[in-house]
Amino acid sequence: MSEEISKAELLKEELFMEQKHAAAIIDEKETEEAFDFCEGYKDFLTECKTEREVAAFAVREAEKKGFVPFDNTKKYSTGDKVYYLNRGKAVILAVIGKKSVKEGVNIAAAHIDSPRLDLKPNPLYEDNEIALFKTHYYGGIKKYQWVTVPLSLHGVVVKKDGTTVSVNIGEKEGEPQFVITDLLPHLGASQMERKPSEIIKGEELNILVGSMPFKSDKGSELVKLNIMKILNEKYGIVERDFLTAELEAVPAAKAVDIGFDRSMIGGYGHDDRVCAYPALQAILELDGVPERTAVTVLTDKEETGSDGNTGLNSDYLRYFIADLGRCEGDIMGRDVLSKSKCLSADVNAAFDPTFAHVLDKMNASYINKGIVVTKYTGARGKSGTSDANAEFVGEVARIFDSNGVVWQLGELGKVDEGGGGTVAKYVANMNVEVVDVGVPVLSMHAPFEVVAKLDVYMAKKAFLKFFEA
Ligand code: MN
Ligand code: MN
Repeated sequence: MSEEISKAELLKEELFMEQKHAAAIIDEKETEEAFDFCEGYKDFLTECKTEREVAAFAVREAEKKGFVPFDNTKKYSTGDKVYYLNRGKAVILAVIGKKSVKEGVNIAAAHIDSPRLDLKPNPLYEDNEIALFKTHYYGGIKKYQWVTVPLSLHGVVVKKDGTTVSVNIGEKEGEPQFVITDLLPHLGASQMERKPSEIIKGEELNILVGSMPFKSDKGSELVKLNIMKILNEKYGIVERDFLTAELEAVPAAKAVDIGFDRSMIGGYGHDDRVCAYPALQAILELDGVPERTAVTVLTDKEETGSDGNTGLNSDYLRYFIADLGRCEGDIMGRDVLSKSKCLSADVNAAFDPTFAHVLDKMNASYINKGIVVTKYTGARGKSGTSDANAEFVGEVARIFDSNGVVWQLGELGKVDEGGGGTVAKYVANMNVEVVDVGVPVLSMHAPFEVVAKLDVYMAKKAFLKFFEA
């Protein structure tokens, strides 16, 4: 009898698929390495909260490693490191490989914009001696999650004379922060009758910014005047300058360890900086010259559908790759693209025991089980997605398997439960082989999201091995 069971066990091992906790697969030394890697990630997450800040960070780190601005009139040789900064909001980094770009390049593409609250072009108003900013939310959010959360303000203001001032307030110790108010439960009865998507309405996302009048002079709008006076002294701006500004309110929280075992990280904007940081570190860490040219793309505007000239639905990546071909010789961009391969690096919804009903347990991704390979995203009947080719998924799986990259498969929720998209389809539309890979996230798109450290580290390892393949 016992022999029968062991036969079955053996056969199961041979034939069945089992996705184990990464800690059961890697050794203690690598676990330690993973936790160490995440210390750098946490600092990055706290320091860089907007696409502009991530882009600037990437350029700074790249320059330290010898990357220089890309010049499409130059000739580059094997081992050269270049970067291209697109309007301060997106970056492409490349390490020129041993093989001609005629053979194609290996791309890791992540996005560096996250859901947030943008200030409206004319944001500042006063109501009953309270000053507020009007906002327009950016990306897909559950609006009720963004009230009563401490906020900071980041961005740029382009002044009348053409000079630009950077704004970053509410992050450093001692700086003031901002907040959106909510109704007290005692008077919330009719609010709770609203449909869930309108518990907090878009026009109710008004940020509290002041309440002191300008001196005790007589007149209206003295609180607003006082705020404008403070802004004018600090930034040299007048009200009109808001029109030529991009100011983003984001959660002021720092990235911190979560759990008694410190196995997870909580913070704002894991989606998709938890893939962007590993994709950046992988290209910076490349030891020696890769066979094929390695390219990391950190793009903007994914959360609003990738449109706009800093999003991947524009031609900037296509042009960069075409330029790589032109710089090497008379190689057509389309020939480079047609032989290129891409890991579209974006997060997936991690299985949440509290909300298990929206996920198909057999096809969901789980924290701590490594980087998730997502063959397709989209909605309904796989609409609006690039369904990766089995051959390419197989190739990526072989790279991961043979290099100790712990990975799992994952679909974004149950069929017809909802859906989503990534940049994969825009890359695929350039005739590049592409599949989504990324880190599973809990509470995705909330002001405070959670990931597991082992998965963050596996993402870096995955991109590195893909570049080295
Ligand atoms: Mn994303
Ligand atoms: Mn997202």
